[in-house]
This record gives sequence, C-alpha cells and structure tokens, in this order.
Amino acid sequence: MRIVVPAGGIGGARFLRGLKAALGTDAATESNQATDHQITVIGNTGDDITLFGLRICPDLDTVMYTLGGGINEEQGWGRTDETFTVKEELAAYGMKPTWFGLGDRDTATHIVRAQMIAAGYPLSAITTALCDRWQPGVRLMPMTDDQVETHVIVNDEEGRRAIHFQEWWIRHRAALPAEQIISLGAEKAKPAPGVIRAIRNADAVIIPPSNPVVSVGSILGIEGIREAMVDKTVVGVSPIIGGAPVRGMADACLSAIGVETSAGAVAEHLGSDLLDGWLVDEADAGTEVDGIEVRSRPLYMSDPAATEALAQAALDLAVELSERKAQGQ
Ligand code: GDP
Ligand code: CA
Repeated sequence: MRIVVPAGGIGGARFLRGLKAALGTDAATESNQATDHQITVIGNTGDDITLFGLRICPDLDTVMYTLGGGINEEQGWGRTDETFTVKEELAAYGMKPTWFGLGDRDTATHIVRAQMIAAGYPLSAITTALCDRWQPGVRLMPMTDDQVETHVIVNDEEGRRAIHFQEWWIRHRAALPAEQIISLGAEKAKPAPGVIRAIRNADAVIIPPSNPVVSVGSILGIEGIREAMVDKTVVGVSPIIGGAPVRGMADACLSAIGVETSAGAVAEHLGSDLLDGWLVDEADAGTEVDGIEVRSRPLYMSDPAATEALAQAALDLAVELSERKAQGQ
C-alpha cells in the first residue's frame, strides 16, 4: 500500500512509528528488503522559525528523530542525551530569545540545514539529505519549500499584536488569549516537489492525531494539497479524547478558530468532503458526524503495541472504505 500522512510533531511522529510497524516497513528497512508498502510523510513547516540565524524545523526534525531512533523519548521532541552548552553560551552573550530549547546535538542539524540553505538548496532537498543519516524508513517531505509561518494575534495589556507561533506556544504556554491564528505566506506557497504526485498515487491518506489547527490545518492550507486529498480515501485519528487534547494545548488553538474541543467537532471542521473515516477514542463512542464513518478504538499511544494497533485500525478502516467506494462506482 502507498500511504500519505500529513504530520505535525509528536502526535504525528508517534503514530508513524505505529504505522511502520503495522505495515512491516520497519522490519523491511532493517533487513534491506524491498517492500510493497511505502509511507510518504508531508511534514508541517508552519512551526518553523529562524533563531540565531538558523532555520529550525521542529516538526520535520521530530518525525526524523523519532523514526530514526534519535528522539528524547520522555520529552517527545529534541535529541536523546542532549546538552545545552550552546544555549547557555548564547544567553551569556545576552542573545534572545532564551525560551527556545536549543540543544547542542540538535544545533548540528540546524547548522547543516543553514549551510545547505546558504548554498541554495530547497528545504525538500535538505530534508532528504538530513534523512540520509537518520534513515526514518518513510519518505519525508516538507509541505512546501516556500517560507510559511504560523503567527498568532494576541491581545493583552501590551496591546494587540502578532507573535510567532513558537513564542505563543513555548514562552506563553498558549495561555495568552489568541484572537486569530494566521499562516503567513501560505497564500503564495506551492506544495514541495513530489507532494501532489504522492497524494495522487496514494491508496489512502491517513491523518494522524496531530494538532488539527497548526499542524494538519497548515498542511491543508497549501494550495492543491487538500483538493488532491479529497479524491482519495481519507481516514483520520482524533487528537482529542474526552473533550481534551492528550498532550499540549491544542484546545487553545481550536478555541482561537472557534471550534469546540471535541472529537466530533474536529472531524466536522476537517470536513466530510475530505474525511471518509474518523477514529475516536472509546471514551467518545457514540460520536456521530454527518457523512463520515466514525469508529471508536483505544486512541492512547501508550506503548508500541497500542500504537501499532491504532495504526492498524486506521489502515483497516481505510481499506474497508476504499472497497466500499469502489463498489459504489
Ligand atoms: P506537535 O507538532 O509536537 O504539537 O505535535 P502534533 O501536531 O503531531 O500532535 C499534537 C497532538 O497530538 C495533540 O493535539 C495531542 O492531543 C495529540 N496526541 C498526543 N499523544 C496522543 C495519543 O497518545 N493519542 C491521541 N489520540 N492523540 C495524541
Ligand atoms: Ca508542531
């Protein structure tokens, strides 16, 4: 099977690990055998930020490190065995900001990226080059080679202003009331090379439990991506369980765009033209959404077995709904 997955960071990466296990592509990579299954990941780049002259791509790196075995497992982001000497030295020079967790090992990745950017390579080629080392076992491509950044319009005693998503998310823990979330540069951005082709050639699109606004929403906001997916069988996994995000503050993002924090409301927001199937947690059993096949399964990615079972359930539903579509035609 050829599966396309539009993914953010932690939720996307963990789900992808389960999907690789379910498809057996992790074993195939290790033994260097060809496999009939291929996973293409369209990574969110809306969270990208330039700090200290370095272009940082948190979601692409989280997917790459998680699937390549370099992730800090407890944290879910950043490198394993990380140290923060560079960060401390920068702070000693009075360099700002100090709220971003820039690790030493991680910095090497950003330096490689910066050097390739300076040499004129597009982000898609840079991502492929970085994956050469990590061998994530999926094709990882950014949603776009163009610069798109999520900014948040906040309004507090300092006044109404736009700040970078990372400042809102990390520095303010998404606690500053957000009036609006904007995808700067999205209207002019083009999908990265190969993105639309991968969607067209896919047997199914699986939307992982990633942030529906700033991860999945950013990817779907790039011209042509959503449209190409609508023609496919699309199954999504809810990042919301029992009316709350599993980790992180996705509820603050949903509130900012006027969507209720519930599994059903997120499916409705993604749209029945896009979604054919939607997996909700057993806590949300009974959720109904017009025009979408909703099933309940355990959605906590608590360990590798549970995550693989979840990915298998998404695959099974995609196959079932594809067959149903084929029969209907
Ligand atoms: P980020 O870019 O690192 O914020 O990560 P993503 O956008 O990929 O995913 C964040 C979302 O993953 C959050 O909204 C969480 O609710 C969701 N998430 C994290 N762990 C789990 C889990 O075990 N199960 C489910 N269903 N969702 C999860
Ligand atoms: Ca992210």
